[in-house]
Amino acid sequence: MALTLHDTLTREPRALTPIDGKTLRFYCCGPTVYGPAHIGNFRTFVAQDVFRRTLEMGGLPTLHVRNLTDVDDKTIRDSQKAGQTLTEFTRYWTEKFHADCTALNLLPPHVEPSAVTHIPHQVRMIETLIQRGHAYATGDGSVYFKVASFADYGRLSHLEDRELRLGATVASNATDSDEYSKDSLADFALWKARKPEDGENFWPSPWGEGRPGWHLECSAMALEYLGEDFDVHSGGVDLIFPHHENEIAQSCCATHGKFAHHWFHVTHLMVDGGKMSKSLGNLYTLEDLQKRGYSPAEVRYVLISGYYSAPLNFTFHSLDAARQALQKLAKFAKQLGETAKNESLHAGPFHEAWYTLNSDLNVPGALGAMFGTINKTKPATLSVEEARQAWSGLQFMLKALGLNLPAEAEEAEVPAEIAALAETRWQAKLAKDWPAADVARKELEAAGWVIKDSKDSYQVVKK
Ligand code: AMP
Ligand code: ZN
Repeated sequence: MALTLHDTLTREPRALTPIDGKTLRFYCCGPTVYGPAHIGNFRTFVAQDVFRRTLEMGGLPTLHVRNLTDVDDKTIRDSQKAGQTLTEFTRYWTEKFHADCTALNLLPPHVEPSAVTHIPHQVRMIETLIQRGHAYATGDGSVYFKVASFADYGRLSHLEDRELRLGATVASNATDSDEYSKDSLADFALWKARKPEDGENFWPSPWGEGRPGWHLECSAMALEYLGEDFDVHSGGVDLIFPHHENEIAQSCCATHGKFAHHWFHVTHLMVDGGKMSKSLGNLYTLEDLQKRGYSPAEVRYVLISGYYSAPLNFTFHSLDAARQALQKLAKFAKQLGETAKNESLHAGPFHEAWYTLNSDLNVPGALGAMFGTINKTKPATLSVEEARQAWSGLQFMLKALGLNLPAEAEEAEVPAEIAALAETRWQAKLAKDWPAADVARKELEAAGWVIKDSKDSYQVVKK
């Protein structure tokens, strides 16, 4: 079954088939490593992980590249505040990021290139763009991309010309108020001439010392590891404009390829109706939530439980609901019994959930279908073979969603008076006082509970 995914560029759902007929190659814009990633960032990374897992569970190998932004205004500014070198500073935050990724059960990308170790690649790309007439150097030793030289500029973000000019003006003014020597306000920096506030963070180039502009790193690293044409490019919706629009312009003008053939954007995680973001100060990190007693699996469940293309509002109630859902899944797995366990994973009785997941990564729909299957399946009535099929299907879906179940399904809380009655009945049974045992059993049943006896113990469960 091919995964069908909405494409931001064509605004249509399109079936994903690899360009090279073998491997689905995709690029994800990675984190800026200057502080802890928040769970909004992780909504995007977790959605990309479900995307990859779905392809791989469907039998398609992937090549997943995700970069580290470890040289830009923010990393330089904050490393100086911390009194560390850029390398020391970004290494610390990269390690933190990796630890969170592992806890959230994200598959590590096959290649994780960092911007600072690919400066020569970026310089080469700028040289090509200048040679081809798509970029120009200014008197201060900066280089800009000439937006007017690329007719397709704005196609991804579907901006009308007027809006585009306005948006570009606002965006570029916000990032670089001193870019007065540009030909047009919409033009963006490929190379930024060295400034005193850069400290030790500058590199040589044919235009003088400086550093690359932020947009260029993704174009250069995608070209290096995925080639001129590759299958999918992904990031949060905030990256559509100007970042991805600029990536397309640079890449298409520097190569003979089309760059990414499909664009996959994840909508924001919100808190109280606003986007979760560092600048708004309304963020939660994984560590914050763990301190409040929630597990990474519960956080992951919340992050995937909304449709990736719709905004998702984060609440603590949703974390509690995730805990219950995971426990229900774990209980079902346990009820299938030891003999159901097997290694051959396929969707089986969970085919509807699998089909739904492949329809534009509809995770909430897939989870709904999973619970539908679970609700209509009575583990006690299944043959060993049927239980094996159910186990296999459940594990298949859990793997596609990257969900690890809690080790032990928590039993429903048994009220004290019910526990006491059950104990009375057990003692009567041990004493072979059958009439007394019967009375206690009937009282329990009337209260909605049943006793399951084994050889030397018992369990009381809800009817
Ligand atoms: P950054 O570390 O800021 O470069 O962002 C890393 C990724 O997280 C990018 O793909 C962003 O688009 C994405 N992102 C940032 N904020 C949110 C949010 N509130 N919800 C979902 N994704 C986000
Ligand atoms: Zn990028």
